[in-house]
Amino acid sequence: MQANTNNASVTDQGFMAQAMHLAVQAADIGEVPVGALVVCNGQVIGQGYNQTISAHDPCAHAEIMALRQAAQAIGNYRLSGCDLYVTLEPCTMCVGAIIHARIKRLIYAATEPKAGAVASQLQLFSKPHYNHTVQVESGVMADESSAMLSNFFKQRRLAHKVNQAKKDAVVNSTSIIDQSKDAVI
Ligand SMILES: [Zn+2]
Repeated sequence: MQANTNNASVTDQGFMAQAMHLAVQAADIGEVPVGALVVCNGQVIGQGYNQTISAHDPCAHAEIMALRQAAQAIGNYRLSGCDLYVTLEPCTMCVGAIIHARIKRLIYAATEPKAGAVASQLQLFSKPHYNHTVQVESGVMADESSAMLSNFFKQRRLAHKVNQAKKDAVVNSTSIIDQSKDAVI
């Protein structure tokens, strides 16, 4: 496994840009913005974005959605020779799925310091007991992906604060009403 952060090809950048568009779709429905694509012989055969909350599915990570669509498209759960592009370093589950699918090359954008299972927390592709080797490229459009994720969490914290302030305002106005009642009585 070798990370390549400086020599991203134009092709890799182009496909990662498409994955970023999918990540935006996730953000639009309030999901953590992660997008993924499966590319085989230069063709996109599967795409997906994170939808764990909306689909009530803990497995609905972008990579899994893209792998499922690709496998349906070619009628084979093995995606030998295909590449997977994803905007965030995959988690343990997705690394497992990538190996099951026999993906040839994984290209990801931003690192996931808390749950990344490729380089950050675990280096699962380096384990010798797997009988499949995946080539890994990281850092393609990493800054753009990180910025999108940071912005998403910032907006979510802000929305949470606004909601909390609204709740506090309701509580305060209720207590004012209660006091005025007391005064009348
Ligand atoms: Zn995952």
